[in-house]
Amino acid sequence: MKRIQGWGNTETDYPVPEPAKNYLKNVVGEPITQRNISLEELLKKIPSSRLPEHPLITTDPEERLRHARGQSLNDWIDMLDGLIDSFPDGIAYPESEEDVRELINFAKEHKINLVPYGGGSSVVGHLTPPKEGPPTLSVDLAKMNQLLNFNEENFEATIEAGARGPDLEAQLEKHGYILGHFPQSWEYSTLGGWIVTRSVGQQSYHYGRIEPLFVTGHMETPSGPIDMPHVPKSAAGPDLRHILLGSEARLGILTRATMRIRRLPEEEHFYSAFFPNFQAGYQAMREIAQAELPLSMLRLSDPLETETNLQLAGKENLIKIAKKGLSLFGQGEQRCMMIYGLTGDPANNRLADQQLAHYVHKHQGMVVRFYIGKTWEKSRFHTPYLRNTLWDLGYALDTLETALPWEKIKPCQESILKDIEHGLEDKNEPVFVFSHISHVYTNGGSLYISYLYRRSENPQETLDNWRKLKGLASERIVTHGGTISHQHGVGLDHKPYLSSEKGPLGMRMIENLIKDIDPQGIMNRNKLVDID
Ligand SMILES: Cc1cc2nc3c(=O)[nH]c(=O)nc-3n(C[C@H](O)[C@H](O)[C@H](O)COP(=O)(O)OP(=O)(O)OC[C@H]3O[C@@H](n4cnc5c(N)ncnc54)[C@H](O)[C@@H]3O)c2cc1C
Repeated sequence: MKRIQGWGNTETDYPVPEPAKNYLKNVVGEPITQRNISLEELLKKIPSSRLPEHPLITTDPEERLRHARGQSLNDWIDMLDGLIDSFPDGIAYPESEEDVRELINFAKEHKINLVPYGGGSSVVGHLTPPKEGPPTLSVDLAKMNQLLNFNEENFEATIEAGARGPDLEAQLEKHGYILGHFPQSWEYSTLGGWIVTRSVGQQSYHYGRIEPLFVTGHMETPSGPIDMPHVPKSAAGPDLRHILLGSEARLGILTRATMRIRRLPEEEHFYSAFFPNFQAGYQAMREIAQAELPLSMLRLSDPLETETNLQLAGKENLIKIAKKGLSLFGQGEQRCMMIYGLTGDPANNRLADQQLAHYVHKHQGMVVRFYIGKTWEKSRFHTPYLRNTLWDLGYALDTLETALPWEKIKPCQESILKDIEHGLEDKNEPVFVFSHISHVYTNGGSLYISYLYRRSENPQETLDNWRKLKGLASERIVTHGGTISHQHGVGLDHKPYLSSEKGPLGMRMIENLIKDIDPQGIMNRNKLVDID
């Protein structure tokens, strides 16, 4: 069963091995174990629903709690430390486009704020109901999850927007096909959520981001239904698909999408390479991306992330031997790990692997084809469960991301790492921070930062610390010319920084579009832009 507090299902855990606990104590300090707020206490906080009755709506308190937040660190502080102060007034589980239309009409009639709910995996506050204003109805698309049409001739499939990653791929796999969109939240996140937040899967290097996979879709909006044209490419004016992509529920509810699909790959491998330092790995990574080698993923961890990954792998003796071996080959304390993926037919994969090895060796690296890549593959969707364990141990973990042109990546990375590391120095609180580069393009790549600090006895202080660190990093991203989000979207947390990317006219265009489609302001109020 899906957890109400934390990530994932209640049956899965990610135990932290004892040596890794000691490692964390050394770098972040002895944690102060906190009690999480109980479900009973949370349920007591829920006020009565302000919604008029409707046969499609439940106001069951537990359902309201389940849909109250996503997965950002401030969502966690709300749900596990009990700072939560706003809840949806009810939940609807539409089963058809008619149901969705009915709910939109009901919301227009009664001035209700609608928040579509996909997998609830947003990490930027997309789902938080506003504290003030009209009642909020969460519209959970879970019952709209079917493959509606499989078109082998066009390599396309039409799928309902509420399909979660595993359900969606299982339905395509029966036909021998794959969408290939694997965000780390894949276990729960949905097709509709991916499209409206412009998400990026781990193998975007091969399958592409969600944008090129999205062919056409159907959205129910407060101004009526809209169907995108179904054509392979078009020069007929601005591309309306790009208005739905990233619309973050401000324009309507996406009910189905036709997606580009591919035949299942004949084989897939994940391997690793090590470099003596980050500069060497960075050069190799840029040259590989610019040579456009047919890989399916590339990720380069900095020295601290490399070490942390090795520590958390849990195989103490094996890792000791591996480190000794790596050192013998010149990959010492500053070593950086690269994980790469090969997806496709065996002959092309072999060739790509040989070409990659050339760049790795050119930059004093070494390829390691056993154990590490396989381990990454096996745990790729399990790793998010680590956050539950760390939280219970007394550590708050958050991640953030941006994308920049190649020449700006390292300066931006260095200044964010420095700012976060020293961000709580005035309180004498260490912050442990590390990063990787992934999702590379010929002209740049995305920078992904993880940071860890101790929870405080006072939840408000844990929240204030998060605000400070997130604010410092967001300011740095903007001043270095990065995007405020390469993959997570805008929601609430990135909203203050959107205008520096879009400019005043760009903001006006977005705001006017929303006002025009949703004049009463019933769709996901106060997210993305402020116009309510
Ligand atoms: C552990 C973890 C790992 C993650 N890894 C990645 C990653 O690798 N790549 C990445 O891009 N993101 C990642 N994310 C972020 C998140 O998974 C994505 O933003 C994802 O696209 C959200 O999908 P969802 O279905 O969970 O949407 P939700 O969180 O339910 O909703 C997000 C927003 O989309 C709206 N929405 C949802 N469905 C619809 C619909 N049908 N119509 C209209 N609006 C809708 C909601 O109202 C909300 O505004 C991760 C998150 C977590 C917690």
